[in-house]
Amino acid sequence: MPACSNCGGRICKGDVKCFTCEISLVKVKSKAEANLERFKLGVTIMFFICLALTLASMFFDFGFSFGKCAAATVILHFVKMSAVQMLESRGNS
Ligand SMILES: [Zn+2]
Repeated sequence: MPACSNCGGRICKGDVKCFTCEISLVKVKSKAEANLERFKLGVTIMFFICLALTLASMFFDFGFSFGKCAAATVILHFVKMSAVQMLESRGNS
């Protein structure tokens, strides 16, 4: 049986608000969280594009040097990691 995080009262499955204290049980995503998730998705897509370019630059010569692509991939990886960490720290609090 799940309990209300606010008052500790019992909650029925499917309830949208606590029967005792009437706090909303539906977790609403804040705008900042939604933006951060969108940002994370964008960075993830760019990361894979850079990764593909890095791999491709090892075999083909199309103007991008391997070093530049690898550096961009590493930077995007760290940006992605920090975005994930920000999302996780928000989720825990
Ligand atoms: Zn409650």
